[in-house]
Amino acid sequence: MVEPRLPQSKSFLKILGIPYWGNNSSLPITQAQVESVIVNTPIFEGVVLASCPRIMKASPSSNMSVIWIDIWDSQKGSKGKTLINRSFNFGRHTATVWGTAMHPGVAQCRNCWCWGHPTHACHAQGAKCQKCGGPYRVENHKSMAWCCKANPKSNPPREATAVGAPCPHTFKCLNCKDDHSADDTKCPFWRHRFDRQWHSNKAAELHTGRISNSNIQRLRVGNF
Ligand SMILES: [Zn+2]
Ligand SMILES: [Zn+2]
Ligand SMILES: [Zn+2]
Ligand SMILES: [Zn+2]
Repeated sequence: MVEPRLPQSKSFLKILGIPYWGNNSSLPITQAQVESVIVNTPIFEGVVLASCPRIMKASPSSNMSVIWIDIWDSQKGSKGKTLINRSFNFGRHTATVWGTAMHPGVAQCRNCWCWGHPTHACHAQGAKCQKCGGPYRVENHKSMAWCCKANPKSNPPREATAVGAPCPHTFKCLNCKDDHSADDTKCPFWRHRFDRQWHSNKAAELHTGRISNSNIQRLRVGNF
């Protein structure tokens, strides 16, 4: 007799309280480590992950992670419900499982700093500086960016930024055009990173903006 297959759904959970950085290493905790935690921790007995765990920093300055997992569950989500609010030990840390109705946040590419695709899927040619948008990594901003170079011809003449001093100049955010870096947590794109609807509205807005700009351009070209 064939066992009737139970209808399945996914439950979305997040785990808080696990450090972002792996043991004694400068590398973040890996998906394989998270998977082995789930296999070896009794509260997760019988839990089957529906996709790879996703590991994010709790915030850019935090050493802690948010780990998003989705698990196969019954239609009622009963397995997920029994896990919510359960704690378990992770080394000397206590991790806690939280329920979440959300999918993991919208990805920000750490190569071109656009939202909506992960770094490994970036089609941009080379990296962009998240501070000024220049074609180099931010580590090279001071040596490459025009703003920090001496320019006696500018009015008033500009002096080079002192060696060892950070670049004091501000640029418009690549995404929201406000005065901060593209990876700043003040950025509304960052603050809405878990709000897919906000991001898709924003993307549509930017897209129509671009189209109407190019229409205006075409109109101008046509008039001359
Ligand atoms: Zn990109
Ligand atoms: Zn720069
Ligand atoms: Zn500068
Ligand atoms: Zn911004």
